[in-house]
Amino acid sequence: MTMRRTKIVCTLGPASNTRETVAAMLRAGMDVARLNTSHGTIAEHVAMLALVREVAAAEGKPVAVLMDLGGPKLRAGVTATGEPLLLTAGATVLLTAAPGPATAERVTIEYPRLTEDVRAGERVLLDDGNLELEVVRVAGGDVECRVVHGGLLASRKGVSFPHSNLTMPAITDRDREAIAAGVRAGVDFFALSFVRDAGDVLHCRELIQGHGGDIPIVAKIERRQAVENLDAILGEADGAMVARGDLGVELPPEDVPVQQRRIIAAAARMMIPVITATQMLESMIDSPRPTRAESSDVANAVWDLSDALMLSGETAAGRYPVETVAMMDRIIRRAEGAIVPDAGPARPEADDHSYVVAIAARRIVESDENMRGVACFTRSGYTAFLMSKVHPNAPIYAISPNDAVCRRLSLARGVVPLKAPLTDSSEQMLRLVDQLLVEGRHVAEGEEVVVVASLPVQTHGQTNFLKLHRVGESHGYTPAPAG
Ligand code: PEP
Repeated sequence: MTMRRTKIVCTLGPASNTRETVAAMLRAGMDVARLNTSHGTIAEHVAMLALVREVAAAEGKPVAVLMDLGGPKLRAGVTATGEPLLLTAGATVLLTAAPGPATAERVTIEYPRLTEDVRAGERVLLDDGNLELEVVRVAGGDVECRVVHGGLLASRKGVSFPHSNLTMPAITDRDREAIAAGVRAGVDFFALSFVRDAGDVLHCRELIQGHGGDIPIVAKIERRQAVENLDAILGEADGAMVARGDLGVELPPEDVPVQQRRIIAAAARMMIPVITATQMLESMIDSPRPTRAESSDVANAVWDLSDALMLSGETAAGRYPVETVAMMDRIIRRAEGAIVPDAGPARPEADDHSYVVAIAARRIVESDENMRGVACFTRSGYTAFLMSKVHPNAPIYAISPNDAVCRRLSLARGVVPLKAPLTDSSEQMLRLVDQLLVEGRHVAEGEEVVVVASLPVQTHGQTNFLKLHRVGESHGYTPAPAG
């Protein structure tokens, strides 16, 4: 079977927390397991990580683990009876940071700076935008609102202020606890929620480094401020996520697909992987088949050139976690087989020579049926991320001596990371290509690959080396005579 290039990220949760289900999801195509710290305890996530590692070792299939830091999601308080509240259009409701149960007249929110950060005329969205309020005035420690779109509000539903400049930190105490535990347990990625600017990413990196970690950070683009500061954020982050759930609350629905394309293009320029997330196969939470719109959404996200697609509730809490992964795998393979991308959505901001070498490697690998992929040597990841963003229609075998670089590359479209020492000797490089690709059963002897690298390997320089190589030749393989 041909390799699937777009990676699949699966959120684990109550529907997928057994050894059998994780193993079945791995076999069905999970590339990255996501632990969502918005739910459950940190200790449960650490135990889940250990289970994923065990299952991956038993199945002999690599899987990266992404710990998603829940961030400062504001939630409505708990009602006295546990029953939802009915907010009626036109009614007045107070929002308050004071303690107490939530009622239809007075909805509690744990945010001490509420009255300082909110202004009259701004909108408040409850429960992913299903209910809408307008701030009438801020007075006496409360925020007085008028209900614009009413409905039922259950306890602990999300509350967002899309037009307000909230001054709360992007990293909460719980996130700090998760960072410490995640570094100790060896997660492969952190995802940072509700990022506002590049400073939030830098702060997260300092915290990770403070615990002795060098773990890549995926910036979740879900706030209006993040959309405005996109380039600066992606300039600091190691990956991006189009977090369409909260993005669709902060922005009108018609803006989400536009931002999806814009974020993918910005990530292509910065040469970092981008995950398209949320509601991709949502109806499969309850149903064994997706809607036609959902299968089109998955295919279009592939054609948009996302590096990875994410499943959330579908695999965390749905009835068909394994079937959903298998379905996503099928839709992606069909989409990738049907349309070969012309080029990425944006020219990567690599130096000109490296870019030309990468394009040449793509042209060569696609020009000959016997060509099986691109093998690239990459110390920092630069050549491999660049190769990924020019989208050859063949696998990219990225050889790096660095664990952190291999982990980062596991999210990149079309990339198979392989850990091995680097060498400046081209003979030794080719021997290593032969050994890794044949032993890993990626390529057979006699098939060809394009080898690209930046030489000398110890300096961070341009991608300046390209060689056509018949696999096996380095240790004496010679093709059988024709006829
Ligand atoms: C999202 O909002 O789309 C998202 C991925 O974030 P979360 O699932 O953490 O709400």
